[in-house]
Amino acid sequence: MGASASLDGRNAVITGSTSGIGLGIAHGLARAGANVVLNGLGSAEENEAVRAEVAAAGTKVLFNGANMMKPEAIEGLIAETREELGSIDIVVNNVGIQHVSPIEEFPVGKWDAILALNLSSAFHMTRAVAGQMKERGWGRIINIASAHSLVASPYKSAYVAAKHGLVGLTKVVGLELAEHGVTCNAISPGYVLTPLVEAQIPDTAKARGITEEEVKRDVLLEAQPTKQFVTVEQIADTALFLCSEGAAQITGTNIAVDGGWTAQ
Ligand code: NAD
Repeated sequence: MGASASLDGRNAVITGSTSGIGLGIAHGLARAGANVVLNGLGSAEENEAVRAEVAAAGTKVLFNGANMMKPEAIEGLIAETREELGSIDIVVNNVGIQHVSPIEEFPVGKWDAILALNLSSAFHMTRAVAGQMKERGWGRIINIASAHSLVASPYKSAYVAAKHGLVGLTKVVGLELAEHGVTCNAISPGYVLTPLVEAQIPDTAKARGITEEEVKRDVLLEAQPTKQFVTVEQIADTALFLCSEGAAQITGTNIAVDGGWTAQ
């Protein structure tokens, strides 16, 4: 195995993977040969349609609807996956939400939800799988952070705090598992046009008093020197590389895939 991973026989769990970046990573891992557990909210029909689409790659693809805000639901997801697939070799902590608001008006419930989903769910997942990965001597834990793990923007207090925290967790886990063949890394995307980004455009327009078109041009793409959105496939390719043997010595780090945003 080299730079591009053959993941035949590996089992992967990807949180928040019925849409956007998580779904792109699911496609990438399944095409590389991994069995995949998808997770997300949404209707039974939508989830089944997504499951079937990913399963077209020919590997075993399961769906688990655990609410990642709830530690006991996360435990259930891990237990059910072990029952159905045996081991868990790859975990992608991808689930995340956003809320845009000035700090003095930031809803307390949104703060709690963002911390629970964008940070604590990665802790609960990692805590549950680390022991078995250590025993098996192989594992990949990939945390989807953000350019906002490295730099801040106004009106995103909870998100920026959670993503900075996620990178701290990544470093600690990387160190703890370093001698056991298990790596833990973060990927920090710039703006990717997914439902998460589309949904914050109207609120950003309101908070800054500008139009939605101006948000895209003057806020989102203004941040990225390439003046292009990052694609879901580019994030999936980075995750795939981290799963390869070529990346076995990369651990505890944070890989920016952000069109040069955080180089500025
Ligand atoms: P998205 O909104 O397209 O997808 C989110 C997924 O999470 C969906 O599958 C949804 O069903 C699921 N989900 C939401 N709440 C859940 C819950 N409580 N329990 C279980 N699943 C739940 O989001 P995205 O843009 O693909 O973002 C994925 C990750 O990438 C997030 O962590 C986000 O912060 C990060 N990110 C995104 C961008 C971007 O520009 N889109 C940039 C940097 C980082």
